[in-house]
Amino acid sequence: CGVFGAIGLTDAANFVALGLHALQHRGQEAGGIVSHDPEVGFNSARRFGYVRDNFTKASLMDTLPGPLAIGHVRYSTAGSKGQTQIRDVQPFFGEFSMGGAAIAHNGNITNANALRKELIERGSIFQSSSDSECIIHLMARSLQRNIPERMKDALRRVEGAFSIVAMTRTKLIGVRDPLGVRPLVLGRLGDGWVLSSETCALDILGAEFIREIAPGEMVVISADKGVESFQPFERTKPRFCIFEHVYFSRPDSILGGRSVYETRHAIGVELAKEAPVDADLVCPVPDSGTPAAIGFSQQSGIPYAMGIIRNQYMGRTFIEPTEQIRNMGVRLKLNVNRALIRGKRVILVDDSVVRGTTSRKIKQMILDAGAAEVHFRIASPPTAWPCFYGVDTPERSKLLAANMSEEEMRAYLEVDSLKFISLDGLYRAVGEAKGRNSEAPQYCDACFSGEYPVAPSDMIANGFEL
Ligand code: 5GP
Ligand code: SF4
Ligand code: MG
Repeated sequence: CGVFGAIGLTDAANFVALGLHALQHRGQEAGGIVSHDPEVGFNSARRFGYVRDNFTKASLMDTLPGPLAIGHVRYSTAGSKGQTQIRDVQPFFGEFSMGGAAIAHNGNITNANALRKELIERGSIFQSSSDSECIIHLMARSLQRNIPERMKDALRRVEGAFSIVAMTRTKLIGVRDPLGVRPLVLGRLGDGWVLSSETCALDILGAEFIREIAPGEMVVISADKGVESFQPFERTKPRFCIFEHVYFSRPDSILGGRSVYETRHAIGVELAKEAPVDADLVCPVPDSGTPAAIGFSQQSGIPYAMGIIRNQYMGRTFIEPTEQIRNMGVRLKLNVNRALIRGKRVILVDDSVVRGTTSRKIKQMILDAGAAEVHFRIASPPTAWPCFYGVDTPERSKLLAANMSEEEMRAYLEVDSLKFISLDGLYRAVGEAKGRNSEAPQYCDACFSGEYPVAPSDMIANGFEL
């Protein structure tokens, strides 16, 4: 998901809508904005579909006045089953003592089932099935005397990954979980401030990138006091999601001081060193494989070519929620550039193999177009474990790499060769010259290693075995 907030700007919701538009790659199912105006109070609008189609001047924007607003773009993750319901679209908003608050959450709360059960037994009235709603109820129940303090209380009970943008009537709040699994950055725009999942959404507004919110940090931003910083949690070594670098973030964003594009390019260079192969063309599976394919081509000297053309008007395949739509998706979105491919030995570079559905279809399309050989090079290690921290991966039984060796996967995909970047190679590409520190890994890489930095307690209670 993507989160964005703005304070101290005339009609802040307009800036939030633009910010969310730049974060649309983080979630395409639905979006929402909550604003606050001193005269009219809180207002909220939540809709299915793209930000650009819903949050236009003619329709919703006039209903979201005020100098303070937050928003969310949603893609459903682990806990949610099937199609998103409108009740699960964020931001969540509630009025309780101290005037109420709204929150937008990116990540996944790994003890949400347990918290929800406890809260319902104690009388909380839930309106959604979302894990994130727990935070609002925990805040409403806290006995602290102001909302930031209530939020600290609430978040100390929450396990898992959270980058949160929240608002009271007068304050914009940003928080990252102690491991800092998901990104969150602070920007300055004129006299106002913005919080965003990624820096690419600052660029669209012409806002100045000030800094990242640190793992475990809470910032409270108000007109009178500016930005105040707090450390509500016990300090621990951060474990940022390494898959943000591989796939999730936009290539023009800066994560942890590193350009996402440069990291992906470096992954391609590493891949070409680790798994060279003689071929005629290097083709990306667009768009997620593109920077790595450029790196692979430059390192190997094999020409780069657009062997697959993407229809720009389709969303991300994987993000479509049902298996059936996902299966159709590849063909709706990607087509082979036949004239280029015929008779060629082709290296295809993609970011990841999850179920293997995409790779199998693409391989078939490339062969149908007359390719002589197909070689897959994958910009992440084999995805053998589900993510419980906010990226939608299926259960283990559906993960190709959880059930097959690399050679079995190659045979199943029916390609001439298949190689994944090593975990160390990936760490080198994100700037860790010595690779992964296996004693104390620098990143979360649980979907590749099975080492979960936060025990997924709800899942374990449901029988998930580590
Ligand atoms: P598969 O078809 O193997 O199940 O999925 C892999 C494809 O899904 C890749 O092309 C990748 O770009 C795309 N993808 C989209 N969203 C995600 C995600 O959240 N996680 C992973 N691992 N891949 C994703
Ligand atoms: Fe990121 Fe994978 Fe960790 Fe999930 S399990 S937070 S996708 S590295
Ligand atoms: Mg892809």
